[in-house]
Amino acid sequence: MHYRIGGKARYFCEPQNAQDIIDAVRWAFARHVPFLFLGAGTNMLFSERGYDGLIMQYVNKRIRKEAGGVRISAGTSMRDAVQYHSAQGFNDLAWAGGLPGTVGGAVFGNAGCFGGEMKDCVVSVESIFYDRAAGMVERRVRSAAECAFGYRDSVFKRNGNEIIASVVVRATPGDKQAVRAEVERCIAYRERFQPLEHPSAGSTFKNIPVASVTPQVRKEFAAAIKVDPFPVIPVAAVLDRLELKGSRIGGAEISEKHPNFFINRNHATFADVIGLIKLAKKKALGRYGIVLEEEIRIVP
Ligand SMILES: Cc1cc2nc3c(=O)[nH]c(=O)nc-3n(C[C@H](O)[C@H](O)[C@H](O)COP(=O)(O)OP(=O)(O)OC[C@H]3O[C@@H](n4cnc5c(N)ncnc54)[C@H](O)[C@@H]3O)c2cc1C
Repeated sequence: MHYRIGGKARYFCEPQNAQDIIDAVRWAFARHVPFLFLGAGTNMLFSERGYDGLIMQYVNKRIRKEAGGVRISAGTSMRDAVQYHSAQGFNDLAWAGGLPGTVGGAVFGNAGCFGGEMKDCVVSVESIFYDRAAGMVERRVRSAAECAFGYRDSVFKRNGNEIIASVVVRATPGDKQAVRAEVERCIAYRERFQPLEHPSAGSTFKNIPVASVTPQVRKEFAAAIKVDPFPVIPVAAVLDRLELKGSRIGGAEISEKHPNFFINRNHATFADVIGLIKLAKKKALGRYGIVLEEEIRIVP
């Protein structure tokens, strides 16, 4: 996996199209096997125990222009999607320059950065809906409103019973050079401020809504507050103030460069990263009464 931590899956398959996904889900239902859908794994932490079930990874990476936008298969990397958009001069995905992972993963978690979010780019989503108890698997199409996007959240994440097959993304004509420049700016920012030289799952915790903290905490972090997409206190600022930068457990480290990134510095284990997560949560709660919420998905 992206974190370079974790064990093996009992079963693994690579569906090529939506029908393959349906067949794989039915296969798992018939055998009472749990399953999990994987994008590029850039937001996940697996334990060394592995996954006692079926992991599906979608390998369809098609991108095609159609009426109303660009249809992009969920298995397409964001890198390719951004590249396609910028080559056409469409400005909708420029904010996602350098965002790792797949288009499916980005829709699932409503990925966002630099003031942009997937929710503002999505026209519609084609998915495979399933209900294990009823043994039901069917195709669905949702409008952007029906995806009920929220902060790093969507109906897919909340309900956990739908697999994203493809997404129609807006195609708003812009200035090709300006779009390219914005993509490059975002990539350069990441290279400068994120510890990309070490494996990680990106930001470990969601940023903290200003509305959820005490007036005293708000005052203490006033200079760090940013709009993302509503006023938040960056977790990085809190962990910095707690002097957790550079803290290590085993091979895992709270990055000096960006303290919300918990990096695999040297053969870290699942327990090492979990140890750092617990440490950060305990300190944030003890000092500021802040309950940190994981952004990464943990598969114990
Ligand atoms: C260096 C670095 C920087 C990052 N920067 C950002 C950032 O700026 N903003 C941000 O939001 N995130 C960021 N991330 C986190 C991560 O890259 C994003 O959340 C990304 O969108 C996850 O995509 P993925 O394909 O890797 O998903 P995965 O990690 O594979 O999966 C994440 C979740 O999505 C589900 N999922 C994936 N594909 C599908 C599908 N087709 N259908 C249904 N469910 C699916 C999985 O089951 C899992 O629950 C960063 C990560 C790294 C390592």
